[in-house]
Amino acid sequence: MSVLYVVGTPIGNLQDFSPRAVETLRSVDFVAAEDTRVTQKLFNHFEIKKPMVSYHEHNLRERGEMILSRIQNGESCAVVSDAGMPCISDPGEDLVRLCTDAGVPVRVIPGPSAAVSALAISGLPTTRFTFEGFLSTNRKNRLEHLESLKEEKRTMVFYEAPHKLLATLQDLAAFFGESRRISIVRELTKIYEEARRSTLGEALLFYQELKPKGEFVLVVEGMTKQEEPQPTLDEAVAKAQELIDGGMKATEAAKAAAKDSPFSKAEIYRNLL
Ligand code: SAM
Repeated sequence: MSVLYVVGTPIGNLQDFSPRAVETLRSVDFVAAEDTRVTQKLFNHFEIKKPMVSYHEHNLRERGEMILSRIQNGESCAVVSDAGMPCISDPGEDLVRLCTDAGVPVRVIPGPSAAVSALAISGLPTTRFTFEGFLSTNRKNRLEHLESLKEEKRTMVFYEAPHKLLATLQDLAAFFGESRRISIVRELTKIYEEARRSTLGEALLFYQELKPKGEFVLVVEGMTKQEEPQPTLDEAVAKAQELIDGGMKATEAAKAAAKDSPFSKAEIYRNLL
C-alpha cells in the first residue's frame, strides 16, 4: 500500500508553486488531474514528466475506485485540480474519503487557495469565517442557501464566475441589505489583482456599469451588532424579571438586561417596578 498526496497548484502565479510540490509530482507513480490538458501546461513549465489519469466530477466514482486499487497495489498518486487546493470546490474530497476509509495514508502538499487568500486581503474580520463556495444556479437551492445565512455573524466567503456576478450581488443585497460591507477580490496573484472594498449597494452600482472580468471571490461581512434584531422593552423587562426570579438583585438584573438591548438600565428598572 502506498500514499495519496493532495497537491495544491498555483491560482495564477506560477512562482507560487512550491519546490516540495514539484518534487512530489516528480516522485509519484501517477497523477490524478481534474483536466489533464491544464495540468500538462504546468508540467511543461516545471519539466515534470508523469503519467496522468483524468479525475473530475463526472467520473469520480469509477475513477476513484481505480485510483484506490492502484494505490493499494503499491503505486503512489498525487491528486491535483486545475488551480488551487484540490477538494475546495474542486475534485478530491471523494478520493480522500475513499482512501481514508480504506486505511490508505493521505498527505498534503499545501498550496494557495483563492478563498483564504481573498479573506486575508479583504479588510473584513478574519477571526471567524465560513466558506460558502458557489451559490447554486437552481433558484430554490440558492434561496435556501442564502436564507440559512441570514443571521450569520461570521465573515462569509463565496466563489463566483464573472457572468453570474451581477445576479449574485443582487441576491446578496436583497438578503443582507445594501449597507452590508463586501470585499470583491479579483484575479488573485495575477497582474490585475484587486480587492474592491465597498457596500453591497455600491458594488451593485459599480458592476451595473462595468462588465465583470476575471476570477472573483466575494467576501461578505457577517451580521453586525447593529443589525441584530433588538429586544422590545417588554422583552428586556421580562429578561430582567427572569434574572430576579433566579436570585439576582433588581438593580443588577436591570443592568444585565440593558446590556443587550437599546434600553437603559433605569428604563428597565422603572418598568420592573
Ligand atoms: N480549489 C480552488 C481553490 O482552492 O482556490 C478553487 C476552485 S473553484 C472551481 C474556482 C473558483 O475559485 C473561481 O470561480 C473563483 O471564484 C475562485 N478563484 C480561483 N482562482 C482565483 C483567482 N486567481 N482570483 C480570484 N478568484 C479565484
